[in-house]
Amino acid sequence: MSAKLLPHRNSLEQASDTSPTSMNKNNLPEEVSHCAHSIAPAKVVRGERAWEESHQLIASICRSPLLLGRSIATAELRQGLLNNLRDLGLNTVSAELKHDCCEMDLKRINALALDNSCDGVIAAGGGKVLDAGKLLAHRLSIPCITVPLSAATCAGWTALANIYSPTGAFQRDQVLARCPHLMIFDHGLVRQAPPRTLASGIADAIAKWYEASVSNGSSNDGLIQQAVQMARVLRDQLLLDGPEALKDQNSLAWIRVAEACALTAGLIGGIGGSRCRTAAAHAVHNALTQLKDCHEVLHGEKVGYGILVQLRLEEIIGGHQLAGQARRQLIPFLKGLDLPVNLEDLGLSNLSLHELHEVCQFACQKGSDLYQLPFPVNSSALLEALLGASDNGPVPVESTVTKRMAAS
Ligand SMILES: [Zn+2]
Repeated sequence: MSAKLLPHRNSLEQASDTSPTSMNKNNLPEEVSHCAHSIAPAKVVRGERAWEESHQLIASICRSPLLLGRSIATAELRQGLLNNLRDLGLNTVSAELKHDCCEMDLKRINALALDNSCDGVIAAGGGKVLDAGKLLAHRLSIPCITVPLSAATCAGWTALANIYSPTGAFQRDQVLARCPHLMIFDHGLVRQAPPRTLASGIADAIAKWYEASVSNGSSNDGLIQQAVQMARVLRDQLLLDGPEALKDQNSLAWIRVAEACALTAGLIGGIGGSRCRTAAAHAVHNALTQLKDCHEVLHGEKVGYGILVQLRLEEIIGGHQLAGQARRQLIPFLKGLDLPVNLEDLGLSNLSLHELHEVCQFACQKGSDLYQLPFPVNSSALLEALLGASDNGPVPVESTVTKRMAAS
């Protein structure tokens, strides 16, 4: 698929028809009067043997690190990292999350770190482990080193952490004081992750464009404008290289795609700042995590479906024909990567209308990223969009909700 097939939104054109922005006493728009950015890790080491290359750097940052991980699938690999750290003479303590990044786990591991006088956290794993490691280091005021073991998210880069309940339901996100001190993106380690994690990372990374352009396409702030354009370039690269990267893990396309998902996506969030992050696609993700049936579905898999829902909303409520076109062109791309495009694919075909309403109400609660959209959305419009996310045609005259009620 050519990236040129997705002509949705030219944000620089949109920038010219922006509504007036309020001005402060220096005659500057409020949105550029002051901004605090955590743009990037202090150092990023990337490449085939990035872990080995980083040994001395790690030893210069901490002498008694806490090595944090979670899944059984990475246990052997993490044991190797632990052995390396001990061989370096570092007094290393190992800990595992029992759940997602949740307060119960954080409290327990925080106490362990204090008991062992840990002076750094090394988080090795997926997004939830990386978020937990960053949050622990933030709370203990010690350096954090992230070692992503997949390219499924940009959590190894950012100064943000998502907090979940012990059962995996999204609760809130927390802005951290800084990005990690060191991020080690070792291709050899990341390549060991299941291909499904890379597909999930692609969906999460392309969401940057769809979310940032709709929420900030008309920003007057130059850094935000540039971050939005970087998100477009990132999307184009993933559309072009994504399929080959998944087919061949030893290709150059794999390196470009893995680094786009884990590094560039984080950089865009760093440059764009807090106003250039998530919108409806992530609001849908957050709402879906409230469902037990959805806990085995990866973050980016839910976000990819959320992009389709967002585009459907733009089409139905915003009246943007190009959003409909973009959605219909994105569906085969996502399907080609084995990513879910509708409720059935997410394993949620048996959800009752009542449960769907609850999902919508969660997404519509006060402070939700859903309100980054430039038009009002209510829960019944969102329900329409959830059900019609993968519909091929234009917006139907007969409501999909009415049809579903008639069928049940
Ligand atoms: Zn995400």
